[in-house]
Amino acid sequence: MENTVHTKVLIIGSGPAGYMAGTYAARAGLEPTLVAGLQPGGQLTITTDVENFPGFESIKGPELMERMQKQAEHAGTTMIDDIIKSVDLSQRPFRAEGESGTVYTADSIIIATGAKARWLGLESEARLMGRGVSGCATCDGPLFRGREVAVVGGGNTAVEEALYLSKFCSKVTLIHRGSALKADKVQQDKLFRNPKINVIWDTTVEEVLGDANDAMSGLRLKNKKTGAESLLRADGLFVAIGHDPATELFKGQLALDPQGYVVTAPDSTVTSVPGVFAAGDVKDRKFRQAVTAAGTGMMAAQEAGEWLEGLDLAPKAVPEDKPDPGVLPPPKVPPAGPAPQL
Ligand code: FAD
Ligand code: NAP
Repeated sequence: MENTVHTKVLIIGSGPAGYMAGTYAARAGLEPTLVAGLQPGGQLTITTDVENFPGFESIKGPELMERMQKQAEHAGTTMIDDIIKSVDLSQRPFRAEGESGTVYTADSIIIATGAKARWLGLESEARLMGRGVSGCATCDGPLFRGREVAVVGGGNTAVEEALYLSKFCSKVTLIHRGSALKADKVQQDKLFRNPKINVIWDTTVEEVLGDANDAMSGLRLKNKKTGAESLLRADGLFVAIGHDPATELFKGQLALDPQGYVVTAPDSTVTSVPGVFAAGDVKDRKFRQAVTAAGTGMMAAQEAGEWLEGLDLAPKAVPEDKPDPGVLPPPKVPPAGPAPQL
């Protein structure tokens, strides 16, 4: 027989957004259920030092996430070790099915499934992850103060990361596989004017090199036009070739932007489906930080609470001259389309 769990608030995802949504929703008496997914604790569990989360000069990513998990649990969030494999947002209560076979029915849903940085896919890149290889300059850049680093990519993220790193690194090399950048012209102008930044065109990273202590020492590069190989000395490699939001489950069921991020109303976590909220990297193509994920997790919990307050869940006859109190006005969500350029 099918195992069914009903909850007022179903939180999908266990990164900073999911855990903080759990903490606030539980403290508000909403008895949330959180499904952790394939990566309990989220992206920060694959990093070492986190030096920009409030309250900690430095803390290991996995430890920070363990603390957030305990905090959410202590507040009263029910943690479930499962992966949601399908959702149905077309009817209420909403329905989600886990890989375990459990069916979750929910009066509201908070989507906190995050986004994944794209990687080059090299064995050496995976081996030296956290030992020089990073997917986030804002997070790890300051660890490379006074050192030589490389950035790979040709879009806005790569150019912004190179500019950011140039503030404290001694030398920044941008490696791009093409002969023209995709980044905005204004950003490109800043890049080309920066004396600390050098661009290597038409080139791919073939291997990340490590020293005897398995710390990164450089890169083996290949020119795509000539086939010539070269070595570049570098202490760090920032891979900035794009992110993929984890929204496969929701395609066709709520508004996503052209990059696949969940569209939310301005200054809000309200999505195009009433009763469904989104928090963290899954709705954020710009900041993608633990602190913003946690902040929007809090917002989602509060907005889910407000939604549930307006939603009278007890079945009853609706007097003909009064509107159904269970029907909230539709949220003000911009139509799917390019997100505004800020
Ligand atoms: P995530 O952390 O991405 O978590 C997503 C969660 O959703 C996971 O628990 C996953 O299991 C779950 N999930 C996905 N699909 C499903 C499903 N189908 N069913 C159930 N659950 C699902 N930010 C900083 O502020 N400081 C740093 O120093 C820093 N360092 C970083 C280092 C690295 C290497 C990386 C990759 C990122 C770093 N970041 C850092 C960015 C930060 O990790 C993210 O901004 C943050 O984790 C986003 O939180 P989130 O809750 O939105 O999602
Ligand atoms: P992006 O625009 O998709 O650019 C990715 C870059 O990485 C491209 O230059 C691409 O090369 C390169 N690339 C992809 N796969 C690669 C691989 N395997 N090996 C080497 N290079 C690879 O991604 P993004 O820069 O993260 O930006 C994503 C979106 O967010 C964009 O819409 C961007 O405008 C937006 N964004 C905006 C801002 C801002 O407005 N301030 C800041 C950051 C991001 P090719 O050029 O050859 O395809």
